[in-house]
Parts: sequence; structure tokens; C-alpha cells
Amino acid sequence: IQQIVLAKRPEGDVTADCFRAETVALPALADGQILVAQRFLSLDPYMRPRMTELRSYTPPFELDKPLTGGSVGEVVESKNPRYAKGDIVMGMLNWATHTVHDGKGLRKIDAAGIPLSAYLGVLGMPSFTAWYGIKHICKPKAGETVFVSAATGAVGQVAGQLAKLAGAHVVGCAGDEQKCQWAVREAGYDACFNHKTERDVGAVLDKLCPQGIDADFENVGGRIFHAVFARLNNFGRVAFCGAISEYQDATPIAGPEKMFTIVQRRLTLQGFIVSDHVALMGEFVNEVGGLVASGKLKSRETVIDGLAKAPEAFMGLLKGENFGKLVVKVG
Ligand code: NDP
Repeated sequence: IQQIVLAKRPEGDVTADCFRAETVALPALADGQILVAQRFLSLDPYMRPRMTELRSYTPPFELDKPLTGGSVGEVVESKNPRYAKGDIVMGMLNWATHTVHDGKGLRKIDAAGIPLSAYLGVLGMPSFTAWYGIKHICKPKAGETVFVSAATGAVGQVAGQLAKLAGAHVVGCAGDEQKCQWAVREAGYDACFNHKTERDVGAVLDKLCPQGIDADFENVGGRIFHAVFARLNNFGRVAFCGAISEYQDATPIAGPEKMFTIVQRRLTLQGFIVSDHVALMGEFVNEVGGLVASGKLKSRETVIDGLAKAPEAFMGLLKGENFGKLVVKVG
């Protein structure tokens, strides 16, 4: 088995020496266990906080153990009556070519006609996150203005399109011209600005959101969020999904100015974690699966070939090098 373990906890930016590639012997399966050969591994921003020991909503990765991630794989050996050789399963597996698993928490998928990587993206966790945040927190109405940061990422691309389908004026930001063009031409955003070249985020928001902002789907945090916060309308909603610009900060940055704004404008700021809402997964699959099948929801992904490249690709994710859902094709 080839696997990648956490060699060291990062301080500030993640560096290559935080990871170590290892080759270990395949252990014999005990009763109840299965051997899953990894096909696709999802790389996600939440893995960065898990590399540290700071309090979060998921336990830290353990030092010298393989990192784990949402994955799709094939059962190649089974001593568990619930799984047969050839089953395609998804769930949390190791950053490895193979994972020995007890089968708990894995879900069998019938992948007929659907690319397996889609289960990690547009039909999986990031898309479910977007759907939950838009539908249950942002609740956009026709004619309202919705802002989405990291607009073309795995979550953002779906959030923006769902807000657009609800009839909102949708504005986003992304870290490169090509991404901004895709957001407008393919995903239907009304506008998307480049946060790396637009230094005055407030001024560009004033131009692109002349009616203010009714709902913010927040992926990035930091200075972009602060500018959005100041422009929220009365009864504005913020779906706090993530704050990727802050994940590598060694010291936390200050929050937005004038917190009394929350009272004055009767704002709702709600943080959420998608795994708390698994009971709604069926509803999500029906709704979003239908939109994907009918071509009404577009998606982009970046596929990296080979497990060995996972660390580098993950470091790139934290700098915006991915375009859409980032997955590693393992085998
Ligand atoms: P993405 O596919 O959006 O990839 C991350 C993107 O974030 C990068 O491509 C980059 O895009 C942008 N980014 C990185 N650093 C910065 C920065 N310093 N400033 C601005 N943008 C930056 O990832 P996901 O869609 O998977 O995740 C998006 C957010 O959603 C993350 O914050 C993540 O933690 C959160 N999340 C939360 C979940 C929940 O349950 N609450 C579940 C899943 C994700 P660009 O080129 O646009 O800069």
C-alpha cells in the first residue's frame, strides 16, 4: 500500500515536509473488514484546520498516521457480509492506494453513467453544502442580491448557480480572470471580480451590487467578508460556510468593524457544518441531481493524477490553484 502520512503539524503555510509518503505491507483482513482500492480522493480546505491541534468541529489528524478524506473506491476483498468484491463505495478513506475498513460509515453507490468523481463534487459533500446554505440560510428571493466568495470553487460554483436559479442578482469573486469569465459565461453569475487584482473590494462591490447585498454565501472570510458585511441590507443573511483566507494565519485577524451593524440592520449570521444535516441528503440528491441531469447546473473539476501529487495539490488549493472541485485520481 502506498500512503501519505502527516509528518509534522504546519505553522503558517503548509509545506511539503508536513507530509511523508510511505509504502507499507498489505495487512491480512480480519472478520468484518474489507479492502478498498481507492479510485478518487477529495482534497478539501477543512483538512488544513485538521492538520493542527486547535479546537475545531472535527478531531485533528494524527501524526505519523495517514491523512483521511472523502473518497470513492472499489471493494477488492471482503470479509464483511454487507460488501461484495466489486462494490463501489464512498466515505472517508485514507490518503492511500488501499484502505482496510470495517465498512461502517461507507455508502454503496450505483455509479451507472455517472463519473465517480462527481460523488465528491457536484453530487457530493461540497454541492450539498452549497444547497443547504442557499436554501436554508441565504433563502434568496427573486430580485435580491446574493454575493458568493470563492465563486468558482467546489461549493461556490453550486451556491452561485442555485441563487441564480432562485432569480437573484448574483455577484462573486475569484482569484483569476479565467475563473471570473467562467463564472459569468457558464455559471450565469451577473458579475465576478478578481480579488487578487481588485485591491479596493468595497469600491468594486459598490459598483457591482448597487442595491446592497441581501445574502452572502461566505467561503473566504477576511478582508473580502469585511467589505461585504458593511454592505449588507436590512434583514441580510450570511451563510458562514468557511473562511479559507484565514486558515493559514498564524495569528487570528480582527473581525469586521462596527458589530452594532448586526442590530441596526437586523442581520442573521449563521455558521453551519454540512454533516449536521445529513437527514436532508435525499432531498438534496433529488433536487440537485435533477438539475445536473437536465444540464441546468454546470460544474468544473480539477483532476490530479496520482496519489504522490496529493500534498502539492493540497498546498495549491490553499492558494487558489484549483479550478472547481479538486480531486486526485488514485487508481
Ligand atoms: P474551493 O474549491 O473553493 O477551493 C478553495 C478556493 O478558495 C481556492 O481555489 C481559492 O479560489 C480560494 N482561496 C484560497 N485562499 C484564498 C484567499 N486567501 N482569499 C480568497 N480566496 C482564497 O474549496 P471548497 O469549495 O471545497 O470550499 C470553499 C469553502 O467552503 C472553504 O472555506 C471550506 O472550508 C468551506 N466548506 C465548508 C463546509 C461546511 O460544512 N461548512 C463544507 C465544505 C466546504 P480563488 O481562485 O477564487 O481565490
